[in-house]
Amino acid sequence: MSAFLSIRGVAKRFHDAVAVNDVSLDIEKGEFVTFLGPSGSGKSTLLYLIAGLHEPSEGDISLQGKSLLDVPPNKRNIGMVFQRYTLIPHMNVTENIAFPLKVRRWPRERIEKRLAEMLALVRLEKFAGRKPSELSGGQQQRVALARALAYDPEILLMDEPLAALDKRLKEDLQLEIRRIHRETGATILYVTHDQEEALRLSDRIAVFNHGRIEQIASGASLYDNPVNRFVAGFVGNSN
Ligand code: ADP
Ligand code: MG
Repeated sequence: MSAFLSIRGVAKRFHDAVAVNDVSLDIEKGEFVTFLGPSGSGKSTLLYLIAGLHEPSEGDISLQGKSLLDVPPNKRNIGMVFQRYTLIPHMNVTENIAFPLKVRRWPRERIEKRLAEMLALVRLEKFAGRKPSELSGGQQQRVALARALAYDPEILLMDEPLAALDKRLKEDLQLEIRRIHRETGATILYVTHDQEEALRLSDRIAVFNHGRIEQIASGASLYDNPVNRFVAGFVGNSN
């Protein structure tokens, strides 16, 4: 049987620059996998390939045994959260979370029920009527998270969602994200260049370098048994 999400020999070239270089990766349903690596190592490009925002130059990506490559991005059941919030400024919290549900033509009662669940999940019940400009950066990211999870996507992709937040808020939100992963059982692919964050959040960490995955393993085994100096240096045990 194939994995839930299977990435096979995927490459992405921009003109003559290689952003992702022959990556293969299997992800199980419900896993929290983090792409960790320095800036420019291809982490975001691989997320965009999975989301369908880029087409691979080579290779295949399949979900539950079916290739995603002929499925347009808006037909892929994938949620995305970016570093900078992408909330709709004139809509309040409720309307922002409801937006993808309305696009999917959910009936009104089902939307109401789901909104209540999502506001509770991200603990924003008291802020339902506020506009994005009336929220802190952390609250805005919670709304983005609720919006991305509302339609129960098969995979949630997060690209450095906490990078713009200060340290305390970042740590609060890391705990929230872990709790939400536990409670929802969502399959999450998470991009960061922050080792500590990767170690806190992930079931497995894929260490990226120059468009390739150097090693993929649990944080503990990367730390104890790095395959090379790059991995050792990047996850902190370079002695
Ligand atoms: P990361 O997310 O790890 O910082 P990226 O995936 O954004 O890295 O980028 C990997 C490489 O691909 C970088 O060298 C970057 O400049 C290049 N790249 C990414 N997107 C594009 C694009 N749309 N056009 C040209 N080059 C790109
Ligand atoms: Mg990036």
